[in-house]
Order: sequence, then structure tokens, then C-alpha cells
Amino acid sequence: MENAKELAGLLFPDISETPEYYEEKYPPRSLPDGARVTRFAPSPTGFLHFGNLFTCRVSYETAKTTGGIFYVRVEDTDQKRRVEGAVGVMLDGLSYFGIEPDEGVVANGEERGDYGPYCQSRRKRIYQAFAKRLVEEGFAYPCFCTAEELDEIRSRQEEAGEDITGYYGKYARCRSLSLEEIKRNIDLGKPWTLRLRSPGEAGRKCVFEDMIKGRIEAQENVQDIVLLKSDGIPTYHFASVVDDHLMRTTHIVRGDEWIASCPVHIQLNRLLGFKTPKYVHVAPIMKAQGEGKRKLSKRKDPEAAVSYYSEEGYPAESVNEYMMTLANSNFEDWRRANKNEGISKFPFNIKKMSVSGALFDIAKLNDISKNVISTMTSERVFELSLKWAERYNKGLAELYKKDGERARAILNIDRENKKPRKDIAKWSDIPDYISYMFDETFEPCYELSGNATPQLAAAVLEKYAAAVDLNDTKDEWFERIKALCPLVGCTPSVKEFKQEPESFKGHVGDVSTVIRVALTGRTNTPDLYEITRLLGKERVSERLCAALKHYREEI
Ligand code: GLU
Repeated sequence: MENAKELAGLLFPDISETPEYYEEKYPPRSLPDGARVTRFAPSPTGFLHFGNLFTCRVSYETAKTTGGIFYVRVEDTDQKRRVEGAVGVMLDGLSYFGIEPDEGVVANGEERGDYGPYCQSRRKRIYQAFAKRLVEEGFAYPCFCTAEELDEIRSRQEEAGEDITGYYGKYARCRSLSLEEIKRNIDLGKPWTLRLRSPGEAGRKCVFEDMIKGRIEAQENVQDIVLLKSDGIPTYHFASVVDDHLMRTTHIVRGDEWIASCPVHIQLNRLLGFKTPKYVHVAPIMKAQGEGKRKLSKRKDPEAAVSYYSEEGYPAESVNEYMMTLANSNFEDWRRANKNEGISKFPFNIKKMSVSGALFDIAKLNDISKNVISTMTSERVFELSLKWAERYNKGLAELYKKDGERARAILNIDRENKKPRKDIAKWSDIPDYISYMFDETFEPCYELSGNATPQLAAAVLEKYAAAVDLNDTKDEWFERIKALCPLVGCTPSVKEFKQEPESFKGHVGDVSTVIRVALTGRTNTPDLYEITRLLGKERVSERLCAALKHYREEI
């Protein structure tokens, strides 16, 4: 249009700032060579999917391993999808996993950094300045079509058997409105959206490089997409292209459902005179189903929600560690060789990420987490699980608080040694794991295993109840149990028992099992010596008596 400048003035009379003004206001960042600027750009729906967290982790590591900047931008242009408090929920989710943005929205209503505002709802004027420039250059125009008219265009295209439907080319009827017609419509108070005048052509390819997926070829964009809605608010495409440029993003790390938008974004960048950032499209996290696999689903899989991990009490370290194994398959080898290093020392490499989607496996997460927790001090286990319990398991928190020292000592059984036990995968395992240590939660169960019979159990318990001494050292304690064996027809030697089983009622293992079952209600526990000591004299004798009574009645 010849009078494009006049049209721009008509559409945006209040916008005096120019793109140059913003280019100057948000200058290129002075960062060392190779430093990458990445972002996480959630829409505030309040739900954080594990896949989003994973992508966010990749984005964060991409920035952090290069000494760059990671920022959070809130994409809240769609007011209908907006949920109160959602930003806070999402940021808490990130923070639980140790992702603290350098810049951007850092808490509900709080921002940090020189490239803001970082909430799209507060950037309306900025978008309008760039939209105005596009109009001036003839790359955008107002469209007055109503929803009915758009439907009608679509029906016509379907009838004609068009490969491409939508608002483009000859179907884009407002493309050719004259300035006079536009003025008249505006005077009549008709609402308008701002559309891109797409220079794309059907059949022409848009070729681009994705750092994970490689070279991608797609149809270039031909659609006159909406840039500004009738309330002047930008659409996702327009806002994110302007923001990624002005916030000086170097690498766009996001879910691969956005690959289809790249031709639009690349075209917009070109028309706006921006350098297109590098693309890093992360494949979704998959889950095995039968022979095949499917996406981890918000509807079907509780573990798809990031809140699941904090509610279950997985330490952030475990989940982060697990996410790194999903991100780079060489992480595990690196971890074996670098047992005590922080994750940030790992040479994370985008190019080693799965093109088709990493497979989620909760059993593997549990194994990793058991390992992570086994290396924690009892003090740390106590602190973290208390924090979890205060929120999710008041009963456990109360037990802890009754006697913190004893709780710490219980958590220290078989810990802080060379071969710590690996029983706890998440804090919600703890209540059951230590339940027998407290009168409130102990549930007797007198089922025996191995060679132990109720007769043997009664004989063992009678003798042990008389002999037990809580002042014993571990060696003395074990000697005492061994000494008890011949008195009840057992042998202290497992080897001897195996050689002539008919000569004995059992061996030292069976004798210990009887004592273990009486004291804990279980056949498998951590170190019985420590358990006995921490149960204390009174509980020990009470439980031995109760068990003895039980077996005597059973005989
Ligand atoms: N706001 C988009 C989302 O919630 C982000 C897309 C992007 O990262 O460009 O998925």
C-alpha cells in the first residue's frame, strides 16, 4: 500500500516509540564468547508437567554450562487460560529442583533484570511499536472479518478442495482494502485484528537447523496470521518472536510441539529484521506401554505432574540426577567416575539428547534416589524429611519432634558408613520404614521365616529375654546370641547346619530372625543391634514378653 505510513498512524495513533528506541533500550548483552542466553516461557496455567521441568532443566543447563543467562518469561497473553497464583506455583516447582532464574519473573509479581518487563501482559506498547513498523513497511494490515466470515472462507476452501486452509493469498480479503475503506470501517467502530501480510508461497520450503533434530524442511508460512487481537494484545507467535529478540535470547529451548511454528517465527524474524535464535526442540518424555511407547500423560500418569515428586518426597537431587540420565545417556558413566561432583560439572551436551523422546522409568528414578539418599548424612535425611513431613505427614513430624535426637539416631542406622543401606527412595517411605521404632506405629506380626517354628521361637525368646543386656557392645551382643544357640538345639554356625541339618533345629540366623520378628514385626530390617539399643530396655522386654506369650499360646 502506498500510504502505509498513514495507515500505521491511523491504527496506532498513541505509539510514538520506535523499534530503534527499544533496540537501544535493550542492547545486545555483553557476555563472554559462547555464553548462551536461554529462557523458560510458561503460560501461567498452574500445572507444571514433568516434561516442562525437563525442558526447563535443559534450558537452564544450556545457559549455566556456558556461563550465560537463564531467564523466566511469563506468557500470559491468553487471559482466558490465566489461573490466579499459577506463576507462584510454577516458580516454586522450579525452585524445589534448584532452578533459580538469573533474570525475569522470580516470584509472584516480582521481576529482576534489565530486559523486562518479563510478563507479556505488561509489554503491550512494545509489541505495538513493532506492529506499527510492520504496517509502515506494508507487512501487516488490519482485518475486519467476523468469525462468521472466517467460517465461510473455510467452507469455501473445503469445497474447492484446497490443500491449505486459512487466511492467505486470494482468500485474505482484507489484504486489499484501500485506506478509505479501512478508515470507514474504523469510523463505524468495527473491531479489527492486525494480520501479517505473508510473503510466503505455497510449495516453497523453509529449511532450518535444530540442534537436537538436525535439518528440518517444512512448507514456508503462507498464512496471514493474526499478530494483534482485536483488543491490541499480541498472539503467542508475535509476542514470543519480539521478546526472544529484545531479551537477546540466543537459544530457544522448548518442547518439540513448537517445531511446527518455526516457519512462522523464522518469517517474522526476517520481516522484523531480527537474527533468528538457534532452535533446540526437546522431544517429549515417553512412557512404555505394551510393546510401544506413548507420551507421559497429564491425564493418565500421576508422575506427569511435577508436584507429584515433592508430595511423595523425592529429594530434588534425585530427580535432577534422574533428569540428567534422561538428557544425556553418558551421564551415568560420568557419574560413576565423578561420584562427588555437582551436576553442574557434567559437560552437558544438547547434541546428545534423544531425538525421539527419552523413556521415563520410575523404577530407575527410585534406584537413583535410593543411592542419593544412602549417601546423605542422618542430619540431612532428618532435616529434609522433617520439612516434607511438616507439609505432607503430620504424624511423622510429631514423632520426630517428640525426640529429635532419637529420630536422628534411628535414621542413622546403617548410614554414614562404607556400605550404607539403600532402602529409602523418597520421604514417604520413611513412616513405614521406621514404624516399629515407635509404640504409636509398631504393629506386631509374629510370622516366622526360615527354620524357625513357634516352638523354637518360644525357647529362644525365653532365654534371650533373660540374657539381653543393652549395655553390650555389638560383638558382645552377637556372642550372646551365638551362645544361646546350643541351649535351644541350634548351631551358631550356618555352615555346620548345612552339613548336618537333621542334627539341629536351626542356626544362628534363625535365632536372630526370631528376635528380629519379636522386636520389629519383620523378618528383614537394618542392623538389629542398633535397633535393639534404640528401642530401649523397657520396649525390648515388653516386646519379647508379648511375643513369647503369643508363641506359647500358638504351640
Ligand atoms: N508459552 C509457551 C508454552 O507455554 C512457550 C512456547 C515457547 O517456549 O516458545 O508452552
